[in-house]
Amino acid sequence: MEKFIVTGGLGFIGSNLIELLLSKKCKVLNIDKVSYASNFYNIKNFKKNRNYSFKKININDKKKFNNVLKNFKPTGIFNLAAETHVDRSIDGPREFINSNILGVFNLLESFRDYSKNNKKARLIHISTDEVFGDVIKGRSTENWPYKPSSPYAASKASSDHLVYSYVRTFNIPAIITNCSNNYGPKQHPEKLIPKLIYNILNNKNLPIYGDGKNSREWIFVKDHCEALYKVFKKGKIGEFYNIGSNKNLNNLQICKTLLKISNKIIGLKNNVKIEFVKDRPGHDLRYALNSDKIKKNLKWKPATSFETGIKNTFHWYLKNKEYYNSLKKRDIIKRLGSR
Ligand code: NAD
Repeated sequence: MEKFIVTGGLGFIGSNLIELLLSKKCKVLNIDKVSYASNFYNIKNFKKNRNYSFKKININDKKKFNNVLKNFKPTGIFNLAAETHVDRSIDGPREFINSNILGVFNLLESFRDYSKNNKKARLIHISTDEVFGDVIKGRSTENWPYKPSSPYAASKASSDHLVYSYVRTFNIPAIITNCSNNYGPKQHPEKLIPKLIYNILNNKNLPIYGDGKNSREWIFVKDHCEALYKVFKKGKIGEFYNIGSNKNLNNLQICKTLLKISNKIIGLKNNVKIEFVKDRPGHDLRYALNSDKIKKNLKWKPATSFETGIKNTFHWYLKNKEYYNSLKKRDIIKRLGSR
């Protein structure tokens, strides 16, 4: 039986990944420090699954993390634990340095010891397209230089460099993935798409940064999770894999698609408007990944079109209104909705 540690499993992608791993009959231990970005609602469907367990641990806590490795003996670690909200990294970068750089350093030190006696174990380190910064022309391949713009992106870039250096220097069996913008069920309402859906459902205008032309590449979270599992099974140690859809949409197109789909689903009676808000420094104009390598070498490609993914997401938020309510109580729904 495959046994995985998923770090950051109370967050958006981590909880979707755990769901996928459990559906493949794997055993999963979720490690999360439990932050504002965590939500126990995300795990409610599988918390009683006997293959699932949870430990509240900060990856910065070396002693606890070492113990977990020793006792659980994972065949793989998916490292998703990170501070991820770009706007918060602009407001205050310190936590991003702590979790995304020092936390990863700590995890690498533990994994380095562990992998000496567990040669088949793999560490999959999950990173982002934001490490490449603005990609004005073309699409960034795995070999492009890193040029992060925000403290968030810089902290992720640093962690990728650390992981790669541990592969080269200490021979640890690790692989790095860089993924484009995810959307789907369980995403925190500070992020763009849930924020827009929330506003549509609550008859409020749709705020977007800049002139609406900022262009992103979007991927349905479940496609990302399938790709991560494939990377674990078939990926080559020391390699980077871009995970994306090779398709870009700007913020205006996103809003229009969302309005069209929500109109079909709930029949919009109101005149919700798009509201442009001055962009913040640190937000890039365009991200675009070239994902040919994973498609060719690992035979993975995204299964979900943007329209289908958005429909699915909209239905999920409609069906799970308590998700917002649980967060509303914590008063964190006020932010604008960045990526
Ligand atoms: P999220 O903010 O929804 O969840 C992150 C989780 O990690 C939270 O539950 C948080 O408590 C936990 N965490 C943070 N620091 C920790 C620490 N020191 N120890 C233990 N747990 C900690 O984030 P997400 O959107 O699910 O992103 C997960 C990963 O995927 C991140 O590494 C992110 O950089 C990467 N990623 C995200 C996207 C995206 O579009 N969301 C795209 C590409 C890559």
